[in-house]
Amino acid sequence: MNIIEIIEKKKRGFKLEQEEIQFFVDGYVGGDVTDYQASALLMAICINGMDFEETFNLTMAMRNSGDIVEIPGYDRVLLDKHSTGGVGDKSTLVLAPILAAMDIPVFKMSGRGLGITGGTIDKLEAVPGFSSLLTTEQMVDIIQRVGCLDAAQTANLVPADKKLYALRDVTGTVDSIPLIASSIMSKKLALGTKGIVLDVKCGSGAFMKSADTAKDLATTMIEISKRAGRKCIAVLSDMNQPLGYTVGNKLEVDEAVMFLKEGLCEPLFKELIYVLCYQMYLISDRNDGLDYDNFTKRIDEVLQSKKSYEKLLQMFEAQGADLEKVRARYDSYGNSFESDAEYKRKVITGDILKDTGTLDSAFTITKLDAETIGKVSLALGAGRLKKEDDIDLDAGIVFEKKLGDIVKPDDVIATLYSNDSGKLDSAYEIITGSDCICLSGVDKQSIEVKNDIILDVLS
Ligand code: URA
Repeated sequence: MNIIEIIEKKKRGFKLEQEEIQFFVDGYVGGDVTDYQASALLMAICINGMDFEETFNLTMAMRNSGDIVEIPGYDRVLLDKHSTGGVGDKSTLVLAPILAAMDIPVFKMSGRGLGITGGTIDKLEAVPGFSSLLTTEQMVDIIQRVGCLDAAQTANLVPADKKLYALRDVTGTVDSIPLIASSIMSKKLALGTKGIVLDVKCGSGAFMKSADTAKDLATTMIEISKRAGRKCIAVLSDMNQPLGYTVGNKLEVDEAVMFLKEGLCEPLFKELIYVLCYQMYLISDRNDGLDYDNFTKRIDEVLQSKKSYEKLLQMFEAQGADLEKVRARYDSYGNSFESDAEYKRKVITGDILKDTGTLDSAFTITKLDAETIGKVSLALGAGRLKKEDDIDLDAGIVFEKKLGDIVKPDDVIATLYSNDSGKLDSAYEIITGSDCICLSGVDKQSIEVKNDIILDVLS
């Protein structure tokens, strides 16, 4: 067997055997297969696809390339949740403490931002002292004592994905269902979790732009989980506008904390959290038969009692955070989001209308494009353009208005924040200069904006 024959075979559209896939993964991790050979095979997979058998074999070969994290002697059903990536998605930070407060353990392994999509590990760096680098012993201890944790991928967890992902990112080979499914599921299956809830994002700010491709990705990942003996449910959720009120690392932590502490939340974000929590409850060992409506009352009680806020603080403390500083920040936090960044600039309705000469007195927001807003966030410094870039944790956007809201010419739609005034100006040009935000006059017509967050639930 040699790698050139394997590349040729996939180039011609033939199915790869399990041994060939294993040969490729072992060879690439071990250094016998070069980056340019791996790139050629990845591109052939992007173009010609893989059937389910090949995708499953690729997932397992990648999963077995490094450590498998098990918690010996722990007999509870550990759960994991994974989002396929979006803009403003801070749901893990809200969901894990809510479930832990209900005695449903959540073992979360998160990643860093990727392209325009944010990553929970970057967001958590805004919490003073917090560390996501945990040893297996620390993970075992925290999950047993606190009930939830958020760890970064350890050095030897799925090294095949680490190498392949970095290569895909720079060779135009990210958006392929078999490659995305195997990348995500190899990491999920390397953890000793028994159930997985997938939040498959769909829309302009997601890798999957259409409902059909999002469904294909979800179905592939569910089948991989089942074949590997795990329970799995996928929620398809909308990512055409950013999630919640904030985009940016520290701002998103603020939003998650204020959701748990004061119930301050945007309605669609709240709905997503409740639906994801319910799906996790259904596959947990604490499922006592509640229907969705009764389960939402249980979440309301947990939030009102502040138990989930306390759980978040316990998780922060267990992972090294300086709780005095954290409490001080949130004890004096107001009821609107405000960044600590040095520079800020408001985006008002009039900035979007410019000189269109419209005479309407009010407008409906008909588009708040998640993909462009992801680019605005990158331009502000909240993400990385190159792997080695530093992130400005204060940079980001706060939305006063969302899709479907009615705005007057002087209303503030959003505020941009950055510690770099040049970046602030560039970001302002992007948000006002493209068709990122679209408005429709309401004087002559009333516009119904389609605004559902949950598109489907598959199992
Ligand atoms: N997230 C991953 O971990 N891998 C992908 O390929 C896409 C999103």
